[in-house]
Amino acid sequence: MRPPGYEPDPDNDPWWEALAGHRVVVQACPSCGRHRLPRMPSCPWCATPGGDDVEVDGTGVVYSFVRAHRALTPEREDEVPYAIATVELDGGARVFGRVEPPEDAAIGVRVAPTFHDHDGWTELRFRPATGSRDDFSPQARETVARTGRGT
Ligand SMILES: [Zn+2]
Repeated sequence: MRPPGYEPDPDNDPWWEALAGHRVVVQACPSCGRHRLPRMPSCPWCATPGGDDVEVDGTGVVYSFVRAHRALTPEREDEVPYAIATVELDGGARVFGRVEPPEDAAIGVRVAPTFHDHDGWTELRFRPATGSRDDFSPQARETVARTGRGT
């Protein structure tokens, strides 16, 4: 359910379990409603204890990224180049993930989730969403309209 090397972590298990089902789940504050990742025992904005798991579309905007052209280990030589982005999800919360193809990673690019199944766990990745706004849910289109990003 989790990547190799990760210790069991009840705070993050819902994240990995959702990804295994090809869903993106973030934590929402029961008081102010803000979304957050990673999961935390209380809201970092209003300090309300607890949080609710909410499923989101996984669409968002690239906040920043790095593109690796040299493999750090021999095992990764066949994977370069690759791009790792911080994606600001629609509705809030930021998450790291690969953007594929790597040459399309750029700040401000709208992205949609893809789910990369490994042996025993699932990785969240992103692809550019270069189509029309119809590629996105009403909630995501509302975010684009409100922020003016990704159009
Ligand atoms: Zn809050």
